[in-house]
Amino acid sequence: MNSSSNPGLIPDFASNISPHSASNVAPDVVVVGAGLIGLAIALELNDRGASVTVVDHGRSLSEASTAAAGMLAVDDPHNPPELAALSRLSSQRYPAFLRRIEALSGIAVPFQTETTVQYMADGTTMRLAEHSIDPRQLAAALLAAVKATPIRLLEKTRIAAADDTLHGMQLRLSSGVELSSRALIYAAGAWTSEVMTTLHSDSISIAPRKGQMLRVRLPSALPLDEVHRSERVYIVPRTRGPQAGTALIGATVENAGFDTTVRTEDLDSLRALAAQLLPAFASATEAPLVESWAGLRPATPDGLPVLGACARTGQFIASGHYRNGILQAPATALVLADLLDGKPPSVDITALSPNRFARS
Ligand SMILES: Cc1cc2nc3c(=O)[nH]c(=O)nc-3n(C[C@H](O)[C@H](O)[C@H](O)COP(=O)(O)OP(=O)(O)OC[C@H]3O[C@@H](n4cnc5c(N)ncnc54)[C@H](O)[C@@H]3O)c2cc1C
Repeated sequence: MNSSSNPGLIPDFASNISPHSASNVAPDVVVVGAGLIGLAIALELNDRGASVTVVDHGRSLSEASTAAAGMLAVDDPHNPPELAALSRLSSQRYPAFLRRIEALSGIAVPFQTETTVQYMADGTTMRLAEHSIDPRQLAAALLAAVKATPIRLLEKTRIAAADDTLHGMQLRLSSGVELSSRALIYAAGAWTSEVMTTLHSDSISIAPRKGQMLRVRLPSALPLDEVHRSERVYIVPRTRGPQAGTALIGATVENAGFDTTVRTEDLDSLRALAAQLLPAFASATEAPLVESWAGLRPATPDGLPVLGACARTGQFIASGHYRNGILQAPATALVLADLLDGKPPSVDITALSPNRFARS
């Protein structure tokens, strides 16, 4: 289906055709995956009057979206140029996105930093006007926001089958419950290909790309309120909230399947790289380890996200955000809601189309 000619799968958002209620089993839209991407889309669709159910096979916001550093790296010179329009729109939308979450949840999510020092390969640096946030603060606020809406969140649940019907599709959940839905959105992060294969949708290659990270206490001689970033490492200070006075050092980029083991030698390498930017981070006495973890970025072969309509009518994908999913969540939500609404998206997403993976 050509997404630009989509007449609107939710024909009448404004009049809210499907009444919201806890027992409603005929949502307009089912979203697969309750990461930041899936929940941001759910919130946007809900705000436009759609009835939304989100299904997650585990717990909401427990994967890449809370493993991230939280840089809104809109001007990172190493980003592919095809990301620029989506990233810029998202960066502009961030304040409104956070205000909407606060209005629903009562929880404010502050920006942690407002500038980034970018170290270039030729030894020069430049200062970028970019923000960062704490993704765990965002997750807590977003979850509370979603729970304050009629959005239905079904955790520890999978979709076992999706059959096309005259008016949309019939979904069978692992719990045995059947749902009829007008639209299905795949937003399952690094697991998106798996889910789409199970449900006989498009064949799209999205693979996990592991990132290990550590959080250390800031050296006392180094109050830090800017991100420091080179092509190989970043140091992201937390200036507010429960993690204030610490900094994240990340991250490895590994093809390791779904493995999330953290290795001391990899953390040591990250610390050594960070010390090349700010030498005080070399010492585990001056900057002691607080915690470490690994997460799985959803990566496509060309490093770009996949946004748009699938070949199967009524099915959409919003995944593959790789290293920029925290940044790109608000714009992704707008674009997907526009597509379902039958409107042209606010930015050109031709380069991000699922069609680029279509088999000839
Ligand atoms: C170490 C690291 C650092 C990062 N730093 C940054 C950063 O600084 N800035 C930035 O913008 N981005 C960053 N990212 C990238 C960002 O975290 C991701 O792009 C983004 O979180 C992807 O969100 P998502 O919702 O697609 O995936 P996820 O958050 O992984 O969510 C996917 C959800 O799908 C669910 N799911 C899986 N299988 C199924 C199934 N069969 N049925 C139902 N649900 C299913 C999972 O349980 C999960 O809840 C980083 C990532 C990592 C790992």
